[in-house]
Amino acid sequence: MKKIAVFTSGGDAPGMNACIRAVVRTAVYHKLEVYGIGRGYNGMIQGEIFRLFSHSVSNIIQKGGTILKSARCPEFQTPEGRKRAYDQISKFGIDGIVAIGGNGTFTGAQIFHEEYGIPVIGAPGTIDNDLYGTDYTIGYDTAVNTALDAIDKIRDTADSHERVFFVEVMGRDSGYIAMPCAIGGGAEMVMIPETITSMPEVIETLQQGWRRSKTSFIIIVAEGDDEGGATEIAAKVKQALPQMDAKVTIIGHVQRGGSPTAADRLLSSQMGMAAVEGLMAGRTNEMVGVINGEIVYTPFHDTITKKKPISESFLKLVQILSN
Ligand code: ATP
Repeated sequence: MKKIAVFTSGGDAPGMNACIRAVVRTAVYHKLEVYGIGRGYNGMIQGEIFRLFSHSVSNIIQKGGTILKSARCPEFQTPEGRKRAYDQISKFGIDGIVAIGGNGTFTGAQIFHEEYGIPVIGAPGTIDNDLYGTDYTIGYDTAVNTALDAIDKIRDTADSHERVFFVEVMGRDSGYIAMPCAIGGGAEMVMIPETITSMPEVIETLQQGWRRSKTSFIIIVAEGDDEGGATEIAAKVKQALPQMDAKVTIIGHVQRGGSPTAADRLLSSQMGMAAVEGLMAGRTNEMVGVINGEIVYTPFHDTITKKKPISESFLKLVQILSN
């Protein structure tokens, strides 16, 4: 292996830059030529491919976002799009790829490898943390801390005005962000896609709290909860309990930005190095992960098809600690 390329794809996540840096520096250390591909699979199709050097990744470890940019690329889902991408990859003589992204990115990489035989290793760059094959994904720790910071501020105002706050955090398919926000933010309730939310129970819990003279409530809602997002859930509560001053805060895209935490920088650096060394060792079609502090490689097939369940003990923790 002489020339490798790295790209970021799907939703951006804080720590992607630290991972790019680790890929580039590890490649340089092992005397490989390294290239960046801009804007995910779009750049691959359009030949937005450029040489990276050690100094190209100076002063980026602390920055959110991704210097390589990210994009969704429907064209890569067509055989014609992938053929165009392959033509560009071969024009540059690239013989290995590091893909930083989520399951969609890995699905594309797997198909690309099957069609054209280019080795690909994935690094899990997504704030959602719902990928099988790693304890944590790049950007998750930062996103949780950003949300928690906002929740702390909401708690101050909730307490002063005796209000119920429904705080929506990211998580279309999973409660991975919502759960630590609820525990760490001292929330009274959490609503996540993995469990069925019972509106009568929610209303009963609020009423019970009111009877016990509890004056403010924080309820964390993952955006993909089965009863809807925070706005819909708050509307249902207001209908049942019109006397309650229910407010909604949607934390939104601030969760994707910001300087990565120490944990994310460390994780991204470990994964970037392991991705390059995995390619050099002849690995392909696998995602690098860290489980119990150890580097592991999981076939894309498993990452894409298997679920990483959320700990049930966390739900119990929210319930008991909010009493
Ligand atoms: P996130 O978890 O942040 O959403 P992701 O990698 O899952 O990240 P997607 O938008 O699902 O994000 O996928 C990124 C890109 O991967 C798509 O825009 C597309 O170019 C490519 N991709 C996704 N699914 C396929 C597929 N079935 N075949 C080929 N390419 C795909």
